[in-house]
Amino acid sequence: MMNRTGATILRAVSRKTTSLNARAVTKNSTRLLSSVKIDTYTAPKVDDNERLPNNDRERNALYSDEESRTMSNITASVRHDWSKEEIAQIYNLPFHELMYRASTVHRMYWNAAEVQQCTLLSIKTGGCTEDCSYCSQSTRHKTFVKPEPTMKVKEVLEAAKRAKEAGSTRFCMGAAWRELGNKKNAFNHILEMVRGVNGMGLEVCCTLGMLNAEQAKQLKEAGLSAYNHNLDTSPEHYPNVITTRTYEDRLNTIANVRDAGISVCCGGILGLGEKDTDRVGLLHVLATLPEHPESVPINALVSVDGTPLGDDDDIDGVDAFDMARMIATARIVMPRTMVRLSAGRLSFSDAEQFMMFNAGANSIFNGDKLLTTANPEFDADQALFDKLGFIGKPAHKGPAPSPHEQEGGVVITKVEGQSQQYA
Ligand code: SF4
Repeated sequence: MMNRTGATILRAVSRKTTSLNARAVTKNSTRLLSSVKIDTYTAPKVDDNERLPNNDRERNALYSDEESRTMSNITASVRHDWSKEEIAQIYNLPFHELMYRASTVHRMYWNAAEVQQCTLLSIKTGGCTEDCSYCSQSTRHKTFVKPEPTMKVKEVLEAAKRAKEAGSTRFCMGAAWRELGNKKNAFNHILEMVRGVNGMGLEVCCTLGMLNAEQAKQLKEAGLSAYNHNLDTSPEHYPNVITTRTYEDRLNTIANVRDAGISVCCGGILGLGEKDTDRVGLLHVLATLPEHPESVPINALVSVDGTPLGDDDDIDGVDAFDMARMIATARIVMPRTMVRLSAGRLSFSDAEQFMMFNAGANSIFNGDKLLTTANPEFDADQALFDKLGFIGKPAHKGPAPSPHEQEGGVVITKVEGQSQQYA
């Protein structure tokens, strides 16, 4: 169903429509349509407070008749039929060209000044029986992490209040375990936390391991906005990193979350000993899901002594160019997804982080800790935002529309016969 705000924006648009031969305008697409129309937006400036729907499904539905967008000779579209070869071609572009394309795509779909700030809190630390070879919280690795009991609801709500006061608009709670399983008491506490954080006006996200369909439904009813469940790497490399669960297990939880109407947050980690083909493979899985994730976090491994990956001297570190290349490719193949610059930010300079924002990242985690590893302080992030001219995205409000679209700079190609949303 169309959100009222989105409808207002689309109705405010005046159109020039031209029928063209589909082959001419979709030359970069594998799909050939019998005919398409090009609509050129000459939108009047909308009120500064006018925003797109916050729910990614409602937002994306507004554009269901869109074939592609073009600006400055760069064409992009939301597709689910990417081949690995196509994604590899983008990933392997010369760096300068990749950055130009990604930053143009970013500006066609988003307001590049707006960056969402999320805070991640570990509500149950350590003591996890899984064997993820990067993780400090696994009982199988000897690390600095000491298992702690699940935090009390009151403590969590106090942390959420502090995060809100510091400018965060999404609060994510993580628990170190394989799955929710039969943890009835813990689940009831978590539902209470979700209701409480939601009641404070923050968007709520959880990362609690594997979920079944019923648990996903209950979390949705409690007010959960999003669920994080990372695929980490490609299906081929996954068994080298984790042996206690399968890629299929992960995909099943993602499907349960999606089916419950919760936004999916799903991404990966660079620095797991993967090859470039694995990075492309991960993006291929994400970009060919039935719906692109609402958010795709891209993490750089924060190496922890005592973990197999932390102790492996043969594993190359992740540099800023690796991160920017991955973020840029994600931005191009999933243009309507929020790409989250996640763990590892502390090892990158402000200039390097700017390169990643320019590649299409539009969300960060803030707060001095990401689960168990260090992260920039709130104040440092605010100073970075001021330096770069960024503003935070408000909670429970959708993203601001792309200024380039509003100013008529984006040429939108639509599938003929599906233009009723623009009437
Ligand atoms: S990443 Fe999650 S599932 Fe894996 S060991 Fe760490 S806490 Fe457990």
